[in-house]
Amino acid sequence: MDQHIKTPKELYEILDESVIGQHKVKKQLSTALYFHMLRCSNPELGVEKSNILMIGPTGSGKTLIAKTLARELNIPIAIADATALTQAGYVGEDVENCILRLLQQCNMNVKIAEKGIIFIDEIDKIGRKSESASITRDVSGEGVQQALLKIIEGSVVNVPAGGGRKRPDGEGYIQVDTSNILFICSGAFEGLDKSNIETEDLIKFGMMPELLGRLHIVAKLNKLDADDLIQILTEPKNSIISQYEKLFGLCGVKLNITPVAVELIAQYAIEKKIGARGLRSIIESVIADDAFNLPNIDHDVTIDKNAVRKALHRKLTTI
Ligand code: ADP
Repeated sequence: MDQHIKTPKELYEILDESVIGQHKVKKQLSTALYFHMLRCSNPELGVEKSNILMIGPTGSGKTLIAKTLARELNIPIAIADATALTQAGYVGEDVENCILRLLQQCNMNVKIAEKGIIFIDEIDKIGRKSESASITRDVSGEGVQQALLKIIEGSVVNVPAGGGRKRPDGEGYIQVDTSNILFICSGAFEGLDKSNIETEDLIKFGMMPELLGRLHIVAKLNKLDADDLIQILTEPKNSIISQYEKLFGLCGVKLNITPVAVELIAQYAIEKKIGARGLRSIIESVIADDAFNLPNIDHDVTIDKNAVRKALHRKLTTI
């Protein structure tokens, strides 16, 4: 393949357009994905993959970074929630279904899926001592880790083409080799605030050492503060606020959210511990009344401090 592979620096710059902060992680992931592309283009070299563990609070950009890189490199990505996964035979979703989802992202093209990314969120919630497990599934979470380990290590997996349960007759399977699929596991690992994370710290969360041994790159994201959230609202190319300005603009209405209003929105997201994930829903409730009157508004709409206070008070009382 002599097609140009985007360099780590190019990937970093693309991430920088939409992901605020998290500089070290953006560097680590840009480089890891560059290596992934190099490896996949030169299989004869026999270079093994380096899977990734992303640690950081909810709404800090873990999924966003992975998705942005996959889109930019034009490789499929399947996103799964570890807490929904089970060992084969239990009620829930088999680990193999992650691979089926990856296949579905690329029109069932096995060759393309075999170079894709599987992103498994909430990996910290399937510790051996996990209390969140229900009685209908593998209670310890260890079985899921074992099943994950097998596909992360690289094996040829029989994926039930139609999803759902495996059929005993072996019909309708697609064989997928996971050796080159890049796995990104992600979790909040709450309470793990130090910067030098050791394997032992993760083992305390019930992670199997064998699984950790397969996650060679550990990337730690920072908790976003109010200034970061203000930047997320206003700065990226397609920032959340600019998206709503565009929608109002389509109706010929100028939407103006004042800087103080933006600050209040950011503070509210921090107080509610929802990180950047909650910003869109806050904006939705703040503009709700005006948005309902679109397109028949014949004046500019200004969202100021008082408008935010009023909307958030209402939001609090409806929760
Ligand atoms: P998580 O860390 O829980 O995977 P996500 O990456 O899914 O969080 O973030 C949820 C949403 O919040 C994103 O789609 C994006 O809109 C916003 N967001 C989160 N982190 C950032 C960030 N660092 N920069 C810009 N937007 C962010």
